[in-house]
Amino acid sequence: MHQLNPVTKQIQISGIRRFTDLVAKYPDALSLTIGQPHWPTPQHVKEAAMVAIEKGYTTYTPNRGLPALREAAHAYYGTKFDLDYHPEKEILVTAGATHALDISLRALLEPEDEVLIPAPAYPGYEPIVRLAGAQPVYIDTRPDGFKVTPETLQRHITERTKVLVLPSPANPTGVAYTREELQALAAVLEPTEAYVITDEIYSELHFADAHVSLATLPGMRERTIVIHGLSKSHSMTGWRIGFVLAPVEIVEEMVKVLQYSISCASSISQYAALEALLHGQRDAEPMREQYRQNRDVVVRALTEMGLEVAVPDGAFYAFPSISSIGQSSQEFAQALLHEALVAVVPGDAFSTLGEGYIRLSYACEDEKLQTALGRMGQYVARQTSR
Ligand code: PLP
Repeated sequence: MHQLNPVTKQIQISGIRRFTDLVAKYPDALSLTIGQPHWPTPQHVKEAAMVAIEKGYTTYTPNRGLPALREAAHAYYGTKFDLDYHPEKEILVTAGATHALDISLRALLEPEDEVLIPAPAYPGYEPIVRLAGAQPVYIDTRPDGFKVTPETLQRHITERTKVLVLPSPANPTGVAYTREELQALAAVLEPTEAYVITDEIYSELHFADAHVSLATLPGMRERTIVIHGLSKSHSMTGWRIGFVLAPVEIVEEMVKVLQYSISCASSISQYAALEALLHGQRDAEPMREQYRQNRDVVVRALTEMGLEVAVPDGAFYAFPSISSIGQSSQEFAQALLHEALVAVVPGDAFSTLGEGYIRLSYACEDEKLQTALGRMGQYVARQTSR
């Protein structure tokens, strides 16, 4: 038999998934590994899906998604973030942000192209780049508060640079770019041929409610592919609804990839998404407020433990350094799980540049968070007093 695809052979199962499999063996552990809001999907959205089933809206939709949903996405992201994309020509409904990233990268990349990824990075980017036959190039953001700067960007751009992936707010660090920071990056990108994929999946969980999209800056629209979705803003991770907003020439290529990969996103989920966009403009607000409070609790607790942490601007993650403990991120996370029954994700799940850190998710109830942090504090104190 011929060998299987050598590229898929090289791709590792996500470090987060591997660690959550281990956590499953500790049923009493408090898990801070979760990458999704702990709130339920809003009731009005669930009801819209039930109505869609009842009415028999269970057939294929256009490849690009329901026209009404694309209209709603145009209005919603236009009002919230000043994005202006033609609903018929420049918006696609995808099966989650993951699928939006996949079709974006596959429509853009050729073998040997380079894709710049700020790191520590969300582990979903690198495998998609590799599957497209291109090369991921990590930009080390650790010295710069986990953000790409004009200098580090400039240093990594070559003539093979096809795409910069730019998440804001980011996973695993929670940092977000200000307008001024984006303007400085735009000035570096302007004279190049590079595209930018902005992963804005956490935009509604920006604690200062100050999300800015690079695509809205002068000269950036034609090179930017905006990724949005409802997984985080409406606690709809399992519904698999994302969006691509991009210039028509790029969308024309992406739609072919979408057509032959999924035909269309789930019709029932699309009707639920339509409800979320039409009547759920404020659904994220209570979550954002709770996660902002949780962020403050976490940052205070970590600082008291003596662990250095960049203050997250959004999402629901903190990414403290554990370098003072003298353990690798795997050793730390495994021992914390075993001895203190608290689960966090080892930083090496976010590329090798995540070594020496752990990610904890504060998408949980306050009481659980307090207990878990208390146990972690005791564990850290034991290590540092040794
Ligand atoms: N982008 C980032 C930065 C994420 O953290 C996640 C999920 O955790 C995704 C994309 C994937 O989102 P979706 O569930 O909509 O595919």
